[in-house]
Amino acid sequence: MKPDPVNPFESPQTESRPDGEAELAGAASETDGLPIPRGVHGDGIVTVASFGYINEASVAVSLLQQEGINCCLDNEGIVSVNAFLSNAVGGVKVLVHEKDAERAACFLHEHRRSLQAKQSQEDIEFDCEECGAPLKMPGNRRGRVETCPKCREFIDVPE
Ligand SMILES: [Zn+2]
Repeated sequence: MKPDPVNPFESPQTESRPDGEAELAGAASETDGLPIPRGVHGDGIVTVASFGYINEASVAVSLLQQEGINCCLDNEGIVSVNAFLSNAVGGVKVLVHEKDAERAACFLHEHRRSLQAKQSQEDIEFDCEECGAPLKMPGNRRGRVETCPKCREFIDVPE
């Protein structure tokens, strides 16, 4: 951990540190979670995922936290104020410690896959392209050709 560079514009008087620098450096790491300055990636902090919308990113953060992975959001302020800017700033980034990055990435990947799997299980509702009858089919029929129960024509089930 490097000491902060001297800021010429800051008043030279700093808070008193009776314990000294060495104590400070040891205490701040590991136990404090993530004291990450917003918008700045400190040492050992990596982006594990980025999302176009703040609510998606928030879900990811709470999931990771449930897994015991420390994480936080970057660009949060910008996106929540100006959602349409989110692409311009690379979306809302979820930041984690480097040591947690692989686990976090795996976890988010699994989560996304299970979401997709769940989604594809859900029934699909659509109108028959031949007779216009409202139809409902199990999710595993997506993208297949089926027979309309009403008009008996072959129909393409939407993806
Ligand atoms: Zn039909």
